Amino acid sequence: MRTQADVVVVGAGFAGLTAARELSGRGYDVVVLEGRDRVGGRSLTRTVAGVPVDMGATFVGPTQDAVLALAQELGCATTPTFCDGKNLIRWRGEVREYAGTIPRLSMSSLLNLAWVRLRFALLVRRMPVRRPWTALDAYELDGLSLRQWLDSMRAAPTTIDLMAIMARVTWGAEPDQVSMLHAVRYVKAAGGLNRMLDVAKGAQQDRFPAGTQQIPERIAAELGDRVVLGAAVHRIEYDETGATVHYLAGSVRARAVVVAIPPQHRAAIAVTPELPEEHAPLPSLWPQGRLSKAYAVYETPFWRAEGRSGEALSDTGPVFITFDVSPAPSGPGVLLGFVDARDFDERAPEQRREQALAGLAALFGERALNALDYLDFRWGAEPFAPGGPTAAVPPGSWTTVGKALAEPVGPLFWAGTETADEWTGFLDGAVRSGQRAAGEVAKYLHTPG
Ligand SMILES: Cc1cc2nc3c(=O)[nH]c(=O)nc-3n(C[C@H](O)[C@H](O)[C@H](O)COP(=O)(O)OP(=O)(O)OC[C@H]3O[C@@H](n4cnc5c(N)ncnc54)[C@H](O)[C@@H]3O)c2cc1C
Repeated sequence: MRTQADVVVVGAGFAGLTAARELSGRGYDVVVLEGRDRVGGRSLTRTVAGVPVDMGATFVGPTQDAVLALAQELGCATTPTFCDGKNLIRWRGEVREYAGTIPRLSMSSLLNLAWVRLRFALLVRRMPVRRPWTALDAYELDGLSLRQWLDSMRAAPTTIDLMAIMARVTWGAEPDQVSMLHAVRYVKAAGGLNRMLDVAKGAQQDRFPAGTQQIPERIAAELGDRVVLGAAVHRIEYDETGATVHYLAGSVRARAVVVAIPPQHRAAIAVTPELPEEHAPLPSLWPQGRLSKAYAVYETPFWRAEGRSGEALSDTGPVFITFDVSPAPSGPGVLLGFVDARDFDERAPEQRREQALAGLAALFGERALNALDYLDFRWGAEPFAPGGPTAAVPPGSWTTVGKALAEPVGPLFWAGTETADEWTGFLDGAVRSGQRAAGEVAKYLHTPG
């Protein structure tokens, strides 16, 4: 069991493993402590009817250069997300087909949506993404929830419901739970609403046929026994010469520590001496959202034969967005459904399956009821480090503790997608945050050894 290292990294998600890989590559002796019995964090690949499927992160797209370069270095190939044919929208009790990103709605709804998106885009353009609390209107925007801002823009019910779908899939939260400053800053970090929401040229453009978890698994294989699983860190003692990091079965003394876990989960680690004032309330002001996912498998992607892409939106839960992630046109056909965690997560497995398949059948017809296999995953119900896809930052957080989010404290450094300035909330942001933290640590330590 290792008791000494140059650097301890807490958390073996994309951020922690990237930081460890970079530091190890620069000659530092690194130990990674991971609380779960697996690496990957919010990237978790399972199989359904023998097909690898991602229960957490799935998609990547253009400008996500950090994660794409890492995947390429590790030999992990992507494939385009299937999007040929008509999309579906289930809205106000009716199912309609549409093409592209904007669903077929009434002219007045479309005009209202375009107006609200324009106003949102204007705010995005002005947002200083690295220091959002310095925006001219920072306090005003951080004093509002996304929902309050929508109301102030006289958003129509359809616009509000579409933005709620965006909030649900992006943060695992409702528009009244998320700060408007956070929403604007988050979208800016993703390159705008189109870039964030689109398939072609957007964040859903490609996926990994073998799953995203192969990336952290390959990094962990490179690092070997320097990655310790089942090692939930509960205490860190630091001083001017370094830090001692404690987990149940032991402790490691290091010259620096990278804490690469979601801000909310920093609360589970007692730090002595106490962190500076703004750091203490940060975990409670940066809560994780709650999103679930369901996969249904069929003999073939039967919707394709009907000219449909498998992509759908629904104003009725629990499944509210779908994608076709079938491995081949000949089959099996695999539908991915993003699931609203509220209600769903509390249900028994059989009821969840029934509800999810009924939602798919409402979109794709009765055939969707006859799934050969089914699998769901509830991130909000995880016993360790629960929540996802990312933080649903409420009003007031950025302007009170935002500065402390990634600010080093002595030998302690912070990583994790929530601390990223580009593609925060995504795999790419996680990788960038790990690279940034590794750079900070190297500068701090100066020389290995
Ligand atoms: C349903 C869902 C869908 C998503 N879809 C996409 C997508 O399509 N594309 C995309 O780019 N991103 C997506 N994401 C987001 C993406 O998964 C995350 O941005 C990314 O995985 C975060 O990586 P991370 O390393 O910052 O954090 P994490 O992956 O959360 O890693 C943190 C690690 O720290 C560990 N840990 C926590 N506390 C402790 C402790 N005290 N001691 C030791 N270890 C600890 C955790 O177990 C975890 O392994 C999705 C996420 C979810 C949940």
